[in-house]
Amino acid sequence: TDEEKKEYIEIIREETEELAVVVKRLFELAKMEQNMFIIDKQMVRFEQLIHTITERVRPAFEEKNIVFSVSCPDHVLANVDPERIQQVLLNVLDNAKKHTPSGNRISMEVSESKHNIITVISDEGEGIPEEDLPYIFERLYRVEKSRSRKSGGTGLGLAIAKEIVESHGGTMEAKSKLGIGSSFVITLPRGENIE
Ligand code: ATP
Ligand code: MG
Repeated sequence: TDEEKKEYIEIIREETEELAVVVKRLFELAKMEQNMFIIDKQMVRFEQLIHTITERVRPAFEEKNIVFSVSCPDHVLANVDPERIQQVLLNVLDNAKKHTPSGNRISMEVSESKHNIITVISDEGEGIPEEDLPYIFERLYRVEKSRSRKSGGTGLGLAIAKEIVESHGGTMEAKSKLGIGSSFVITLPRGENIE
């Protein structure tokens, strides 16, 4: 019927758009691996970067009734590509939001050590099964195998995030307990201190 035709064309259109996103991201990853990817490092105040991201995600968190808390010390300087690091943090926060039920908490806490800036993003979400945890940074890996429309996602977000962090000389790791929550630890080398 015409009705069905319309419906299927809509599905095909959506799938095509999604594929286009996947292809674009795979290209990004391939470029990163060949070091053809430009990281434009600048001295940035880390709290500024955190503030920008917080403002960007807050509406979506509020909409889902998620309690979002952020802490970051003042005067931390980072020598990073701000756009890329924002992309990393947004990716992790987006994952946290997707996997955390309404009413629960998500936090982003920044601390510094002698050589590093450590950002920990924790959620009170569904958690990641122990057997899946070693693979979540692999490209196209998703815990929920059926790519249901609802949970969306291509399984590339964390692979790209890790590649970006590592090309800054940093590290990225995940800890998780099923049914309790997950936390992602992003370590970046710090810049000079301002004061
Ligand atoms: P994309 O980010 O490309 O849109 P995605 O979110 O599915 O898709 P990744 O960000 O790479 O892909 O994450 C990989 C998988 O790890 C997710 O599909 C999800 O199963 C699991 N995961 C990531 N973060 C969390 C989290 N905070 N809580 C529970 N599971 C998570
Ligand atoms: Mg993701």
